[in-house]
Amino acid sequence: MTTVVPERAGLLIGGDEVDAADGGSFPTYDPSTGEVIARVAAGGERDVDRAVRAAEAAFDAWWPATAPRERAALLYRAAALVRTRADELVELDERTAGLPTRMAAGDVETAARYLEYYAGIADKLHGETIPLGADFVDYTEREPWGVCAVIPPFNVPLQLTARSVAPALACGNAVVVKPAEQAPLPAIRLAQLIIEAGAPDGLINVVTGTGPQAGAALVAHPRVRHITFTGSLPTGQAIMRGAARQLTPVTLELGGKSPQIAFEDADLDALVAAVVATSLMTAGQVCSAGTRILAHREVAPELRGKLLDAVAQIKLGAAHDGPDMGPLISRVQQERVLEAIDAAREDGARVLSGGGIPGNAPAGYFVEPTVLGDVTAQMRVAREEIFGPVVAFMEFSDEAEAIGIANDSEFGLVSGIWTEQLSRAHRVARAVRTGQVFVNHYGAGGGIELPFGGYRKSGIGRAKGLAALDEYLQTKNVCVKIE
Ligand code: ADP
Repeated sequence: MTTVVPERAGLLIGGDEVDAADGGSFPTYDPSTGEVIARVAAGGERDVDRAVRAAEAAFDAWWPATAPRERAALLYRAAALVRTRADELVELDERTAGLPTRMAAGDVETAARYLEYYAGIADKLHGETIPLGADFVDYTEREPWGVCAVIPPFNVPLQLTARSVAPALACGNAVVVKPAEQAPLPAIRLAQLIIEAGAPDGLINVVTGTGPQAGAALVAHPRVRHITFTGSLPTGQAIMRGAARQLTPVTLELGGKSPQIAFEDADLDALVAAVVATSLMTAGQVCSAGTRILAHREVAPELRGKLLDAVAQIKLGAAHDGPDMGPLISRVQQERVLEAIDAAREDGARVLSGGGIPGNAPAGYFVEPTVLGDVTAQMRVAREEIFGPVVAFMEFSDEAEAIGIANDSEFGLVSGIWTEQLSRAHRVARAVRTGQVFVNHYGAGGGIELPFGGYRKSGIGRAKGLAALDEYLQTKNVCVKIE
């Protein structure tokens, strides 16, 4: 079979593909089969240093000399190239990240849309004037940081790389990306396309490698001026500690334990479809997955029945065969998810569906879509992010109790509210402590335009929408005394 997956991939530094300074490499696996499909350069401190210096040189030359409309044009060309190469990128996502064809296609299209969306704002980033009276002219300018580090996770590798790289470049920064070691190839390909679109050498660099080596070296580098990290809470905490040494600002998009609140008048079919699509068919490997289903007692039995019926229809399979649901990313992740299900059983939860490795599964890293019942707020499964296809079913009696359970979490990323009552929808939307709220749907087709980020331990700062621009710019105030 011909494949777009290269046998080897190097680092991308200063526009060139190069080996790691010490010649090291690591394997990358097809999560659907468990087979090694490529070897990727394992970057370390010296490689990170080269990449950051290349980025800084590119920034120093590019930012002062380039009109904002040229940054816009670059990103529009990159978006067009992503669409032209969509088939190739879909296959990369299927084979290296285990995304079923439909999700892979969504990842590619969303990446193209991020590039376009931020292309559209690149020449509209204004400062303001501040009146100080007759003796002064005062204005602000919005300036890029310089070298931005981008550390995305493995789950939807194209869009989560583009989500940070596109606004960073639109604002005039240079970037060094450290892709997730489980699925680094899509991010490398995306960077190559941005270079093909005309990015000058060094404006975008990719250093592949492990988190503790390449990632930590990037975070600690004194010439990195901003860090965007998307991933787990413990790694976010480690990055914040690492960044503190240089006082490097961080944008952190971390985990969630997002509630889906079904009131007695909820459209149960729509809710079930949303849970199946976003929390289970994704193999639960999305931070916004609505993994706590809070059901009003009146509708709980009917909702549970509908959910179990829908879950029984989900077809698992190798990503490139176009199943409803693909594998988890790695053996490690598969084991973590199975342990979390065991912990839930120990805590007294009841497995209503799934709960293990599917009987007829291919050799890859599969876990059945799993619904847990009899879950209470204190159980680990109601509190800890699992990042697997596991939803916890809980019940409530009234609005106040629903809000109480929803907010009883150290996370605060997204809430889903399902009700036909307008006032209740707005009341509850105000009361839940999460950065995003969806009413009677979940996700808005990717929500590129919608500010996204966490309350509490779900993160710091915002991705997506115009709000993300604040993460990639700093404000300079110029105050002029006039005669
Ligand atoms: P997961 O547990 O799903 O692998 P992580 O949050 O640990 O998710 O990883 C997300 C990203 O953070 C990956 O690119 C990973 O390499 C990187 N990473 C992990 N540890 C560190 C670290 N100490 N410093 C910087 N980056 C890290």
